[in-house]
Amino acid sequence: MLDQQSHDTDRSARALRPRNLDEFVGQEGVKKRLRIYIEAARSRGEPLDHVLLLSPPGLGKTTLAHIVARSMGAQIKISSGPAIERPGDLAAILTRLSSGDLLFIDEIHRLRRAVEEVLYPAMEDYKLDIVLGEGPHARSIRLDVAPFTLVGATTREGLLTSPLRDRFEVSFRMEFYSSEELAQIVRRAASWLGIEAAEDGAWELASRARGTPRIALRLLRRARDVAQVEGASCVDRELARRTLSILGIDEHGLDAADRNLLSVIVDRFGGGPVGLETLAAALGEDKETIMEVYEPYLISRGFIRRTPQGRAATEQARIHLGKEPPGLL
Ligand code: ADP
Repeated sequence: MLDQQSHDTDRSARALRPRNLDEFVGQEGVKKRLRIYIEAARSRGEPLDHVLLLSPPGLGKTTLAHIVARSMGAQIKISSGPAIERPGDLAAILTRLSSGDLLFIDEIHRLRRAVEEVLYPAMEDYKLDIVLGEGPHARSIRLDVAPFTLVGATTREGLLTSPLRDRFEVSFRMEFYSSEELAQIVRRAASWLGIEAAEDGAWELASRARGTPRIALRLLRRARDVAQVEGASCVDRELARRTLSILGIDEHGLDAADRNLLSVIVDRFGGGPVGLETLAAALGEDKETIMEVYEPYLISRGFIRRTPQGRAATEQARIHLGKEPPGLL
């Protein structure tokens, strides 16, 4: 996967973030509802209801949380499920919130159960229950938390507990982007990065970016590198194609790791179904990475099916890999 990150790309990624809903491309249904909820909350002078954002990585959850905060005129505090280790860590975050603040918790499905329980009364009643002492002398006190909005983001809806899920008033499922939308994102970002992207060049990168803005922007940065080395001033279709071929990305946007995953299912497991554990072991890959990063796009493009017995490669996957259908073997 294209996950090489440097401080430099981190910085440019921040600069490339759209700042308001008008600049945020696509996800029209999400934006429409958000505009209404934000306007209604603002006119009541209340914080926005708690929001849950669901999508594979790189589709804009963090960006949207920043935009919501800005639209509400709120400060944003950022944390993540794995970073909040103990109930006390969450209590510290909650007690430091000011009225109207937006608390963004990324990977919220990874919160520990004991931590999650601290969140429930905070979300429902803006209260924090703290237990003092231990054993028979333990007593609990209730503290007020400033009215705030929780924006939770998750790539794994299935791992959310239902008590947590139920406490979100609103949830938004974000979809993969169309190539048109990604091309728009690429062209806008190109001007930020100080390079021109021709319409055909932007389209070429966009159509191979797995429906994901983060990947489209990475491809653009790599194309900018190629342009720089070649002394070119514009990312046109040919330059985009050369970049993609250097990166080993094929016409469907699959890279070597994706193709390897498909070939393992087809060649070693007769096309599947193969259980996730077995597949992960065969690939030397983490189960979570397969489920969060590789699979959603491969499923959405019809290369893999999820069955009760495990993952199966589709006919389309065999054709893509240039393999004979099983009947002909
Ligand atoms: P997530 O939190 O879902 O992993 P991010 O919000 O970090 O995704 O987005 C990844 C990158 O893609 C960011 O650099 C962001 O600027 C860009 N991006 C995401 N969604 C959009 C969008 N709808 N329009 C423009 N840029 C976007």
